[in-house]
Amino acid sequence: MYDFKRDTRFAGIRPFEEKVWLSSPTMHGDEMKYMKEAYETNWMSTVGVNLSEIEKEIAEKVGVKYGVALSSGTAAMHLAVKLAAKRLYGSSTGTHTPSGKGCGGALFGKRVFCSDMTFDATVNPVVYEGGEPVFIDSEYDTWNMSPEALEKAFHIYPDVKLVIFAHLYGVPGKMEAITEICRRHGALLVEDAAESLGASYKGLQTGSFGDYNGISFNGNKIITGSSGGMFLTNHLEDAGKCRKWSTQSREEAPWYQHEEIGYNYRMSNVIAGVVRGQTPYLEEHIQQKKRIYERYQKGLSGLPVCLNPFDGENSEPNYWLTAMLIDKEAMASQVRGEREVLWKTEPGCSTPTEILEALECFHAEGRPVWKPMHMQPIYRNHGFITAKRKECVSSDIFQRGLCLPSDNKMDIKTQERIIDIIYRCFE
Ligand SMILES: *Cc1c(COP(=O)(O)O)cnc(C)c1O
Repeated sequence: MYDFKRDTRFAGIRPFEEKVWLSSPTMHGDEMKYMKEAYETNWMSTVGVNLSEIEKEIAEKVGVKYGVALSSGTAAMHLAVKLAAKRLYGSSTGTHTPSGKGCGGALFGKRVFCSDMTFDATVNPVVYEGGEPVFIDSEYDTWNMSPEALEKAFHIYPDVKLVIFAHLYGVPGKMEAITEICRRHGALLVEDAAESLGASYKGLQTGSFGDYNGISFNGNKIITGSSGGMFLTNHLEDAGKCRKWSTQSREEAPWYQHEEIGYNYRMSNVIAGVVRGQTPYLEEHIQQKKRIYERYQKGLSGLPVCLNPFDGENSEPNYWLTAMLIDKEAMASQVRGEREVLWKTEPGCSTPTEILEALECFHAEGRPVWKPMHMQPIYRNHGFITAKRKECVSSDIFQRGLCLPSDNKMDIKTQERIIDIIYRCFE
């Protein structure tokens, strides 16, 4: 690895004494209280008051009727996708029923439109259910799924009935346009709000626009249970179905009776105690993250870069991660293979790779933006729809973008030092 400490541009820069994280858990004390309560009352399994409390609280916060606490955001997305498939296609394609053998999946042979630039947990559940993701390009305005590209996709594949939409880095997508397009084409919407809990679009919270939605309490999210997730919906019957599937689909019978395939996806009451201790601090975390974003915006204003944008008139992000995009003219050479990258430094220019490696060298953690799904080896032969011919927004953002250290415990001095390192990369 290139040694930035010996590079004259970085003369006098000291490594951080304590590692600066991208986004690490921030505990407040009550988490321990609720975990201890679970312990002392011996509600140490997947039933208990912590679970029912957070289901009520989070559903209320997001503005949906029902929440089901699950072992991960991925589990929430899986059951959301499965419920959507069930509603759309019934059990005619699914073979998780006594009538079929094996697990063809509830989406067997069906195409599903999915966000392209996201974590693969957004789209993998489609494949778990035998479906075929077709990726929809991002837009520059929010980095989320482009409504224009989605509209085009419906003209190319008019039979598609399901859209999986992720809000990247806490920035809400253009939900008015997206929900309108879905409605007009008779498609259901599943929202992946794993990164955007607390963010809103036109006064409505992300996670409330879709028919079935998922959020995550993974360790690096805006609030955390150390792990965990939640399924959200307004449909009473489907919330019950989700709960049943998540606890191995036991029927009401004196013995273990199974009439559907089940999963062990329920959250533990101990984990729910951590989440319960965190929920009162969601707004505080958002405010801290917002100040981090604003300090980067001000601090980096002298460089040929911009931050991950949002529609300030209609949306309020949760600012989970601040990401940065280098202007095209200010990009030095950077060639990415499947697992390695080659890069050069050039005066006045830089690359995500150079900045990430410089940060790492001084003990700070950044991250490349999500590598688009259409570029991933597992999904490379899948459909991919862009708004304009010959313009691919997601791969361009991947080439020029990176996530900056956005830990809410990062103090101002530390952030100033990070900004200084980024400046020196452009020298
Ligand atoms: C974190 C994340 C998930 C998955 O959540 P887990 O709780 O880690 O399973 C899904 N989608 C997106 C966009 C995420 O960032």
